[in-house]
Amino acid sequence: MSAIVIDGTRIAEEIRTQISADAEAFTHQHGYAPGLGVVLVGDNPASSSYVRMKRRACERAGITSVAHVLPADATQSDVEAAVTALNEDPKIHGILVQLPMPPQIDEIRILSLVRLDKDVDGFHPINIGALALKGREPLFTPATPTGVMVLLERAGVNLRGANAVVVGRSNIVGMPVALMLLRQDATVTVCHSRTRDLPAVLRSADVVIAAIGKANFIQGAWLKPGAVVIDVGTNQIPDAADARGYRYVGDVEYESAAAVAGAITQVPGGVGPMTITMLLSNTVKAARGSAVVG
Ligand code: NDP
Repeated sequence: MSAIVIDGTRIAEEIRTQISADAEAFTHQHGYAPGLGVVLVGDNPASSSYVRMKRRACERAGITSVAHVLPADATQSDVEAAVTALNEDPKIHGILVQLPMPPQIDEIRILSLVRLDKDVDGFHPINIGALALKGREPLFTPATPTGVMVLLERAGVNLRGANAVVVGRSNIVGMPVALMLLRQDATVTVCHSRTRDLPAVLRSADVVIAAIGKANFIQGAWLKPGAVVIDVGTNQIPDAADARGYRYVGDVEYESAAAVAGAITQVPGGVGPMTITMLLSNTVKAARGSAVVG
């Protein structure tokens, strides 16, 4: 068997075309574009690079982005002031606090300060809490887990009653994606570094979400034939053949997995392109006022 490739690049592109059209319609109606405010503290190269990518993506989609870049030794009140300014700016509809923050900053207090109806990153404790509660709807859900769910939906995967195994339980990927799968009536198992016999757990999985951060970790031989595999992992490995001297691979050993799975995402070109797309989508949603606080 050779798996169908779930093409995140193509799906993200299709969604971005719609986002651009929605942003343009908003701009036409209001005389200014949807706005995303970004708070970045310090000079962590990965964080700075993510913020640059988000700014470029905003430009292409017709969304204004405003960055508050603070030095690494910024105080709690400096960061709170930046968030408050964005909260109060009527032309800013979404706020993104780039994590991680330096150790002197209380991240939870910062995330809690973001206005709920501007929490386009979905990390406000109330939005995350609503995700875990039956009968409650979060206003926004985090970008990467939402991207995973959209890929499953676009691939036509029926989650109701399916055995879904999420490998990884981080706040930003594993845990929210597990909650989102549960809301879609999947039977969810969450694995982590203390899980005994991961291959045995994976063998019963109709759907596998890999969010571990270990290159090529999950082997094809561990998978149930026909399983749907979404690989969130983004791991840099040395590659002399690449001009950069490295390349990116996922948490799943692609060749062996693609030979067993029914459908699979690639790295790069799977979940990665979906993450920023979901952030843009949430920003336009916030701008259109479809987020109702309650
Ligand atoms: P974290 O390091 O926060 O979490 C990793 C999780 O994997 C933990 O829950 C950990 O368990 C678990 N884990 C570690 N080793 C094993 C093991 N041997 N067996 C089973 N589980 C294990 O990572 P993130 O969630 O932040 O990111 C995961 C991956 O996704 C990374 O490669 C990251 O780069 C990528 N990523 C990609 C994004 C995208 O847009 N494509 C966005 C965000 C992340 P425990 O809790 O016990 O420590």
